[in-house]
Amino acid sequence: MRAAVLWGLTSSFLVSSASRLYGGPGMRQNRRPQMERTLILCKPDCMEKNLAGEVIARFEKAGLRLVAAKMLRLTSTLLDEHYAHLKDKPFFPEIVAFMASRPVLALILEGDQAVARVRDLLGPTDSRKAAKGTIRGDLGTSNMLNIAHASDSVENAAIEVKRFFRADEIPA
Ligand code: ADP
Repeated sequence: MRAAVLWGLTSSFLVSSASRLYGGPGMRQNRRPQMERTLILCKPDCMEKNLAGEVIARFEKAGLRLVAAKMLRLTSTLLDEHYAHLKDKPFFPEIVAFMASRPVLALILEGDQAVARVRDLLGPTDSRKAAKGTIRGDLGTSNMLNIAHASDSVENAAIEVKRFFRADEIPA
C-alpha cells in the first residue's frame, strides 16, 4: 500500500517535471522537444527606432536562444532571391529599396519549435492587424514597416540561415 502511494507520488512528480521541461501552457504536454533553428532579420525600421534589443529580449524571454548574430547591408541581388515569392507584387521594388536602406541585424535563434513560436511572437504581416502583445502589434506601423522578418517553415529556415550566414558563422 505504502509502495503504491510512493509510486503515485513519484510518477506525478516525473510527469509534472517533464511537462515543465517540454513546454508551457498551450503546448502539447509530454512530447519530445523539437529543436529547430530559424532566421530573423531586424528590419531597417527596427534598427532606425533603436528596437533591436527589445526584439531580442522578447525572443529570449520566450526561451529562445540566440546562436548567431551579425549586422549587414542587404544587396538587391540577395533581396531579389529572398523576396522572389513577391516578385510580381506591386510593392516589390519598394520592399527591396526599404530593406536595402540601412544595415539590418540578422539572427539565428534556436529552440523547441522555434520556427512557429517566433512567427507567433511576431504576429501577422500587417502590423495594424497584429494583436497587442505581439512584436509587430506593439512596435510595427504598417504592412511594410513590420519590424522583423522570420522564416515561415523549417525548410525555408534552413535555406535562409545559409543565405545570410557563411558556413563558418553558423555554430554546430
Ligand atoms: P511575412 O514577412 O509576414 O512572412 P511576406 O513574405 O508575405 O510576409 O512579405 C514579405 C515582406 O514584404 C513583409 O514582411 C512586408 O515587409 C512586405 N509586405 C508584404 N505585404 C505587403 C504589402 N501589401 N504592402 C507593402 N509591403 C508588404
